Amino acid sequence: MLSQKMLELGTNRSVIRDLFEYAKERKAEIGEDKVFDFSIGNPSVPAPACVHQAVEELIREGDPVLLHGYTSAQGDAGLRQAIADYVNGQHGTALTADHFYITVGAAASLSITLKALAEEGDEFITFAPFFPEYRVFVENTGSKLVVVNSDPKDFQIDQRAFEAGITEHTKGVILNSPNNPSGVVISEEGIREMCGILEKKQKEYGHPIFLITDEPYRELVYGGVKVPYLMNYYDNTIVCYSYSKSLSLPGERIGYIAVSDRAVQWKQIYAAVCGAGRALGYVCAPSLFQQVVKRCQGVTSDVSVYERNRDILYNALTEYGYRCIKPDGAFYLFVEALEKDAGAFSERAKEYELLVVPADSFGTPGFVRISYCVSTEQIENSLPAFRALAESYGR
Ligand code: PLP
Repeated sequence: MLSQKMLELGTNRSVIRDLFEYAKERKAEIGEDKVFDFSIGNPSVPAPACVHQAVEELIREGDPVLLHGYTSAQGDAGLRQAIADYVNGQHGTALTADHFYITVGAAASLSITLKALAEEGDEFITFAPFFPEYRVFVENTGSKLVVVNSDPKDFQIDQRAFEAGITEHTKGVILNSPNNPSGVVISEEGIREMCGILEKKQKEYGHPIFLITDEPYRELVYGGVKVPYLMNYYDNTIVCYSYSKSLSLPGERIGYIAVSDRAVQWKQIYAAVCGAGRALGYVCAPSLFQQVVKRCQGVTSDVSVYERNRDILYNALTEYGYRCIKPDGAFYLFVEALEKDAGAFSERAKEYELLVVPADSFGTPGFVRISYCVSTEQIENSLPAFRALAESYGR
């Protein structure tokens, strides 16, 4: 009667959503400020002034089409050109409006791209730890997700494991840097090596292998760390971008796909992207926010708050005896659980009103993810609880 797969997906919520819902209930019981919710990546920093200004202006201008009308299925041409101009200015690319497809966020960008590429029997590689929805998006196309572990010492790419994971069935590789959940930014050296392997394997198997680069955290980096622009390193690149984090707009659902002008038969790929958008019903992203982001190209939320949160949390937790890699980007701290079973550790943390996500579904058992895109006050208030939790394990 029903798709069992969809029933299963709809019934078994992700562990992140479970904790997020638990947090709401718990806050209602004991008070908002008593619960330290580090479950979800909902930016605490407000959207920059440019966003609200643009909304106000657009409403005042009152053009019904710009406000609430349909745009082209692939998004407003003026917006797509504005993004192309911005990206070209930043990265020296030669993109035009015709390389961009506007989406309802990175989740849609990924779903559309995978749908556009996948044929029967295809495999897509990603690196653990990874955003758990990749499995859902890849399997929804009938393809297989192949998970390659990162180097456990720094969560950079383990190039030998990567090469070993590529087969004649590999259609694409999903890379996410800055990474959710580790916060790691893949080094330029690592990118070059990975791209070299991809070039070699494309030749060996005689077909393209696409690099799908999931970049909602591109602008969220600290200490001047460089995030290489993948199109400049590998021709068969498709960028999946979102304004959810860079402009603190996750609920507005706005992002894009960019197909490299150097990708093999890029016009065909772009047409397949349009077809996949149509098949999935992801056409004509919200008009109002298409216009808003058009006016806010190059603007980013104030990420200094995240950097401060990262420093406070990282310094305190390492002092209390937790082990974690200092993240260079995104707003997650990836911490080794103080017992083997991260689920059990997360349950014990709840006794201290700390909500941290066990990372098994990220492909990395034994770790938890702490989303530090919360107020600095919450971070500071939570420290005694983190200390007490560590002490309960004899640290
Ligand atoms: N990819 C990664 C790595 C993410 O962390 C997220 C959201 O947290 C997404 C994709 C989905 O982003 P969006 O809200 O723009 O759909």
